[in-house]
Amino acid sequence: MSRDDLFRAPKGVHDVLPPESGRWTAIVARFAERARRYGYGLAITPMFEHIEVFQRVGEHTDVVAKEMYELTDKGGRRLGLRPEGTASVVRAYVQHRPTPPWKVWYVAPNFRYERAQKGRYRQHWQLGVEALGVADPDIDVEVIALLAGFYRDLGLTDARLLLNSMGDAATRPEFVAALRAHFVAHGRALGPEFLERVEANPLRVLDAKVPDWQDVIESAPQLTEHLSDAAATEFEAVQAGLRALGIDFELAPRLVRGFDYYTATTFEFQSDALDAAQNALGGGGRYDGLAEEMGGPPTPGIGFGSGLERIVLALEASGVPAPASGTDVFVVDGLGAEGGTTVGGLVEALRSDGFAVDRAYGGRSVKAQWKVADRSGAPLAVMVGRDELTRDAVAVKDLASGEQVEVPRSGLVAWLVQRREGRAV
Ligand code: AMP
Repeated sequence: MSRDDLFRAPKGVHDVLPPESGRWTAIVARFAERARRYGYGLAITPMFEHIEVFQRVGEHTDVVAKEMYELTDKGGRRLGLRPEGTASVVRAYVQHRPTPPWKVWYVAPNFRYERAQKGRYRQHWQLGVEALGVADPDIDVEVIALLAGFYRDLGLTDARLLLNSMGDAATRPEFVAALRAHFVAHGRALGPEFLERVEANPLRVLDAKVPDWQDVIESAPQLTEHLSDAAATEFEAVQAGLRALGIDFELAPRLVRGFDYYTATTFEFQSDALDAAQNALGGGGRYDGLAEEMGGPPTPGIGFGSGLERIVLALEASGVPAPASGTDVFVVDGLGAEGGTTVGGLVEALRSDGFAVDRAYGGRSVKAQWKVADRSGAPLAVMVGRDELTRDAVAVKDLASGEQVEVPRSGLVAWLVQRREGRAV
């Protein structure tokens, strides 16, 4: 690797910088607000865990078995960089034993050694929620409604909801056996990779994208036809709850999603604005056995994770405009050195009054400052010049129209507030 390459971000990861990060701020703020309204508190868990948190018995998925970043620290501990959010949150639940129901949200980076491509990175961020300790189908509906409303608020109107049930522990083994028998009987000619996958976990074959496998997948038995009475009733209740809230969904009997811990309700939102191979905006489901697998009490749980980068890509592809620059006001210094601290004081005062204020630095000419003001994205500039100072006033310029008015210094904050609230002055 050349020296130049060493000082670039590694393959598959990237920086998020202004102005692009303005979109990230807006998305995370909306998610935080939505989670708050639904009664979810923020959970911050470590970026790495003992490897067993992710690598549990029965977890054979690619994300854990092949893609996890594993490391040994200087104390010889075997650690894994978090490849997904749910396992860490459930570990925190098992460790701290909060009183259920326990409803938390997170925004966190995940690490997966994937083939890097557009929409698929080796570090990606997820927004998610987890609700532990509630088996009621109403919480399934709540979690899905939270995510549906979040996408709608953002302007992602083409997000389609796919819904499935993975059944319960009572019927799963019977279904898995029927599925394996079907694949072995009809897929023998598909080669060793197919048969290996069938052997490891036939459920994972259901959402495989390999074109040659599609016929045998299409004709496979369907999970929803093998549900126990309890699981079928619960699935019906989730569907009825979604219908009652006017949330459209499609039944997707082959939706299995990426983790072995899922039980009962699973769901995924897909966007047609994204490339087909990476069209999942977010998804999740129930994982009623996971807390127990980590030594906790039997605890039902449901949650989802939604990729932040995917949301940004979908917003861009759907033509949703990015939020404007965060600056409300650009202050132009027309006094120079003789003004002393006048302009600095004005900038600080406006910031204290709640405005996002920027300025130029380094004693630049007034002309140069106006150029910076135009580039700043701020809708307004406030200029303090010698003339204005004698009248204890400032000049306020609308940077889009070029219109300029003089405003008494003492009335500036009120003027800006009125303007921000869209009232005529
Ligand atoms: P998963 O944890 O695999 O269920 O993925 C949840 C969501 O995270 C997906 O729907 C995507 O939006 C996003 N996602 C998963 N893997 C990646 C990745 N490698 N790069 C970017 N986004 C990802």
